[in-house]
Amino acid sequence: MLAETGAGFTSGGAAHLLLKAMRVVYIGLGANLASSAGPPEATLACAAERLGALGRVAARSRLYSTAPVGFADQPRFLNAAVKLETALEPGALLDALMGIEAGFGRDRSGGLKNGPRTLDLDILLIEGEAVDEPGLVVPHPRLAERAFALAPLCEIGAGARDPASGATMTEWLERLFAERPEERGAVVGIESNLW
Ligand code: ADP
Ligand code: MG
Repeated sequence: MLAETGAGFTSGGAAHLLLKAMRVVYIGLGANLASSAGPPEATLACAAERLGALGRVAARSRLYSTAPVGFADQPRFLNAAVKLETALEPGALLDALMGIEAGFGRDRSGGLKNGPRTLDLDILLIEGEAVDEPGLVVPHPRLAERAFALAPLCEIGAGARDPASGATMTEWLERLFAERPEERGAVVGIESNLW
């Protein structure tokens, strides 16, 4: 009796729980200073590999060369986005991302907002889930106004939606380009044999 219901429940129930716990997360990567891994494109490639330890990397965008935002007197950035399937909770994922950033020499002590950095890893979007905790807001609070994050994200998750409004990422990018046409030229897809 126990074995009968027990076995049925365990296999079906465990599979159900596993499916529920898996998240589809879009992570934004950015860098404009060399790290111990090499130039920014080498850092981003190594970081994308490290993301594979947190789940399954299902897709990655091209690299984009982007104009710095906010603080103009610094090198151009390289940006990309990765689609990660992970069982990690959002908070644990952010901790893991900050650990990877630190491993590539990210120094937050300067405190210069939008300043130069060896590696920036942001949780841009989680499919079907919004997060609003101290230190973590998803979708990323500035995603809708950042072409450098939306352009690579749209390459791999064009139909992914803002959980609050239902708008797709393509709609967000089109709206941003309509409001600020100059942003189109500020994000340029590039080829790199390091990526
Ligand atoms: P930004 O990525 O906006 O240029 P930082 O990388 O310096 O800025 O991050 C500043 C803080 O933003 C981090 O300490 C982190 O706690 C917080 N944060 C809030 N939401 C997110 C998110 N979705 N992804 C990454 N960091 C986030
Ligand atoms: Mg960040």
